[in-house]
Amino acid sequence: MARRVQAPHAPAHRFPGRRLAPVHGLPAARRPGPRQRRDRRGGPGSGPRPARGAAPAQRQRPVPARRRRLGHDPRRRRDRRSRRALGRRARAARARGRRRHIHPGVGRPARPHHLRPGGRARGARAGRSRACVVGHGDRTRAQPTRARAPQRRHRLRRDPRSAARRGRRAGDRDYAHQRSGYIRGGNPGLVLRAHDAQDVVEGLGFAREQQARGAWDGAGRLPFSVRSGGHGISGLSTNDGGIVLDLKALDEVTVLDPASRRVRIGAGATWGHVAEALAEHGWGMSSGDFGDVGVGGLATAGGIGFMGRKHGLTIDHAVAYDVVLADGTLVHATADEHPDLFWGMRGAGGGLGIVTAVELEVYEVPPVVLAVMLYDASDARGLLEAWGTAVEEAPRELTSFLTLQPGRGETPGLAQAMTVIASDDVRLAERALEPLLRVGPVLQQQAQLAPYAAVVAPQDAPHVSDGPGGTFRNTLVDHLDDRTARAAADAFETGGFQMFQVRAVGGAVNDLASDATAYAHRDGQQFDVSGVGFGHPGLLDAAWDTAMDPVAHGEYVSLSTDRRPERIERVYPGATLERLRDLKRRYDPENVFDRNLPLL
Ligand SMILES: Cc1cc2nc3c(=O)[nH]c(=O)nc-3n(C[C@H](O)[C@H](O)[C@H](O)COP(=O)(O)OP(=O)(O)OC[C@H]3O[C@@H](n4cnc5c(N)ncnc54)[C@H](O)[C@@H]3O)c2cc1C
Repeated sequence: MARRVQAPHAPAHRFPGRRLAPVHGLPAARRPGPRQRRDRRGGPGSGPRPARGAAPAQRQRPVPARRRRLGHDPRRRRDRRSRRALGRRARAARARGRRRHIHPGVGRPARPHHLRPGGRARGARAGRSRACVVGHGDRTRAQPTRARAPQRRHRLRRDPRSAARRGRRAGDRDYAHQRSGYIRGGNPGLVLRAHDAQDVVEGLGFAREQQARGAWDGAGRLPFSVRSGGHGISGLSTNDGGIVLDLKALDEVTVLDPASRRVRIGAGATWGHVAEALAEHGWGMSSGDFGDVGVGGLATAGGIGFMGRKHGLTIDHAVAYDVVLADGTLVHATADEHPDLFWGMRGAGGGLGIVTAVELEVYEVPPVVLAVMLYDASDARGLLEAWGTAVEEAPRELTSFLTLQPGRGETPGLAQAMTVIASDDVRLAERALEPLLRVGPVLQQQAQLAPYAAVVAPQDAPHVSDGPGGTFRNTLVDHLDDRTARAAADAFETGGFQMFQVRAVGGAVNDLASDATAYAHRDGQQFDVSGVGFGHPGLLDAAWDTAMDPVAHGEYVSLSTDRRPERIERVYPGATLERLRDLKRRYDPENVFDRNLPLL
């Protein structure tokens, strides 16, 4: 049960008579019904919306008793459908199991009975393919995965054309839900769903075969996109007329070694479900601010999350990646095996290969304190500067994301700070939060002790976007001092951006050397400032450059739609870019993974 935090009182002149109130619905946030899912589409910067996650089950319309007696219960129809789907999946799994015997030791291990421990494969019984944890407390259960070690590098062979037979095209029943990403629409010619590493190899082989045959009547090469969670900001995980390889079904979370808390997570899992699965062990992993973001995209780029100042980026805890390379080879990249590739996957993975699973060493995460504060942002510059100083001076347990929205007419601009204290020490939380109540006029405030999994609760929102989405830009800065806060406020107030978000990235993120991973921004950068606008992209880009370039100290690859090639030097500065270009020449010389920033 959530426990209410003793309120540090705001100064009376700013916030008379208000106390920290509980955050409604946080612990109850569960899988929403289809209707709520439609209503609950966040955006980057929207972050978790605790109030929206409130007990959707309560809003489900009950089936009248009479209809239930007459056998008209729509839930029973759904059950029948899901039983049929389960049967189909079981047959497909058996078929895949047979194929795996042809190539023993390769790809995801067949799901043998000894990998189904006291371990419940959550969702499997219900016919849902969702994250599950297996291997509770028993090291021997992880051994089938470890037994693959001698054959880490192995070429998989299967007729690539069989991939296309299972693909989805326009007109297929479920194509509408598979063509787009979360932010942007797409109309691919074919969507291939992978269920294991072999499917990935097969799909890649098929796409390359089509590209080689020139099967594309547009300009250039047939587009080929890789999609995991579908939350890529720039929409590159879908395309128009090309092939999308969808890894959504690779969503298992497997405990490999409970002692070191080593877990293997499929690229298609989403961080909200990962958090739920890890919470069963009292563990967690800082990822981002939204539970529907996918593992594949985030764990190959960085992972600026709500516990970042205490625990660093998500990639800082990666110990291995299973990667399908451009030539169809499946490799296991670690600090010892393919160490150069392992380095590149942590920040620039999307341009080097297709990750089927990542292994992370997660940490213990007790319940956290989540505080939500709403400020009057009429003085955006002053608020940014004061908030930035307070966050930098706070203990590392505190990580805060500040979202600003411009005023309209008489309504002043508003700013909402979502702050997580990665500790269940309520007194520490009070002391850490107290300065945040003095950074600007507080309109509302609430704080609550809650499981971390509730902070990034999955929403499972369908991907039904159409059109190009907005323009997203971001810049890493050292401090929100007077000059930087003024630049950000200028971009916010005059640049045409409808939403601004500042994410704290200091603390443990800067504990690693900047050449430790391909994410290189660890020289004292404390904040990532990002903006979203819906006007003319060229004008928005120009406004952002004018305002933010003079104070910029790098850029995070994932929070931008800017495709200008010169941008790459801001994302991968100096020696990092040289090293990545060398990797690209060795691992993907034909630039098969060409949807990301141009490394060649
Ligand atoms: C609402 C929202 C909130 C966000 N908040 C944060 C945040 O707080 N912190 C943060 O760090 N980021 C945040 N992001 C950015 C997010 O981390 C990236 O967009 C990430 O790439 C999404 O991953 P995905 O798997 O869902 O994306 P997808 O759309 O599936 O993929 C995006 C790109 O990643 C690459 N990719 C995907 N899967 C793989 C794979 N298996 N192997 C290799 N490359 C792959 C591909 O190049 C692809 O084009 C947010 C995004 C959104 C939409």
